[in-house]
Amino acid sequence: MKTIITGGTIITTRDGTPVVLENQTIVIQDGVIREVGDADEMAIPRPEADVEVIDGHGYLIAPGFVNTHHHLYQSLTRGLLAVQSVKLFDWLAALYQKWRHIDHQAVKTAAMVSMGEMLLSGCTITSDHFYIFPRGSDARLESVLEAAETLGMRIHACRGSMSVGESNGGLPPDDCTQPEDEILQDCTRVIDAYHDPSPYAMVRIDLAPCSPFSISPELLRDTQVLAREKGVLLHTHAAETLDEERYCLDKFGLRPIPFLHEHDWLGPDVYLAHCVHLDGADIDLLAQTGTGVVHCPCSNMRLGSGIAPIARMLGKGVKVGIGVDGSSSNDGGNVPAEARQAMLLQRVQGGATALSTAQAFNMLTAGGADVLARPTLGRIAPDMAADLALFRIDDIAFAGAAAQDPLAALMLCHAPRADRVMVNGLTVVKDGRLVNVDERKLACELNTIVQERFR
Ligand SMILES: [Zn+2]
Repeated sequence: MKTIITGGTIITTRDGTPVVLENQTIVIQDGVIREVGDADEMAIPRPEADVEVIDGHGYLIAPGFVNTHHHLYQSLTRGLLAVQSVKLFDWLAALYQKWRHIDHQAVKTAAMVSMGEMLLSGCTITSDHFYIFPRGSDARLESVLEAAETLGMRIHACRGSMSVGESNGGLPPDDCTQPEDEILQDCTRVIDAYHDPSPYAMVRIDLAPCSPFSISPELLRDTQVLAREKGVLLHTHAAETLDEERYCLDKFGLRPIPFLHEHDWLGPDVYLAHCVHLDGADIDLLAQTGTGVVHCPCSNMRLGSGIAPIARMLGKGVKVGIGVDGSSSNDGGNVPAEARQAMLLQRVQGGATALSTAQAFNMLTAGGADVLARPTLGRIAPDMAADLALFRIDDIAFAGAAAQDPLAALMLCHAPRADRVMVNGLTVVKDGRLVNVDERKLACELNTIVQERFR
């Protein structure tokens, strides 16, 4: 199947810089972009049965946005009254009491809602950090994978873990943790069953112990060994709050980044969520090791965690992507809005030149793809995956800015719903609605589950 998008305005990264190119034609075949060029110079074949032609005039076409950190199941506790105004450790302590009741259906429904929201914002790939598998629950990594398949979204499904419960000085209740041999067995099982190392993979599995305060150093080591044996990425939360820093200093005698370094947990195959509380040496270590960082500004603001030194990290050459984080600390999944928030938050701290629209766009697209070690994503060019977000230039949210500077329209204005979104060459959002599920029915299903079991 071939798809040709004719005459659109594309915005993409070339040699590390965003460029806007008008009147472009994009040729897509078998889920991959084959050609991109000036519409007047490219021959459009006469309509054939197996060629779909999409009129791209009037569209701003961006690479599908990359979300590098989420907890899809957390739509179940989005807006929960008890945790609307508390910091991370209190937030977690209260939420574990709700999350201990998750099951397959609840997680799958919540994951579909979270992914649906992201698709509608133009995001085409997400990482999901699913780390809570309560004893006796039938929730498994498949709960998330089935949701991604239904919606047609690309995913890095992180098999998370927690093994140190309250009785051993950890934060989660014991019945929300798992024995470490059981965790490692399931990590092996899901990698063998689902991980696709091929360049255009729809599903990859990453391994992701939850945080230093819910696992043991032994599990950290064993997970790292397994991930490198299998060739999958490693992910975890790091340096999110001062409470975490204190916990690491008390328990391990090291701050979070040196602690991870000591356990061979930095490198180009590792990406870390948050990295709010870093010193200069930490930033140098992240840069030298090629470790990826996920910036989650809304979550950091919502929980009062602090402002991550993103501008300094970028200045030192650290790879940085954007993450909306889970819906219980955001409470939304608008991925371009998150990049906009990142830009504004850096300016609060570092002045009006702290982070540019170009840097924000890069974190949202190619930078995020680099964090996930996916060089075929986040760009519009031949041999890139056909993951695209099409926004109507005549949307009122862009009016004025679209005529000034399309990059500014996307990064400074409130980005509206994408009109069309393609993942792997297939349309998953059309006319601003999800194609593969009934949005309203899905929202009602989640509301029912929440009303019955998660309030
Ligand atoms: Zn998180």
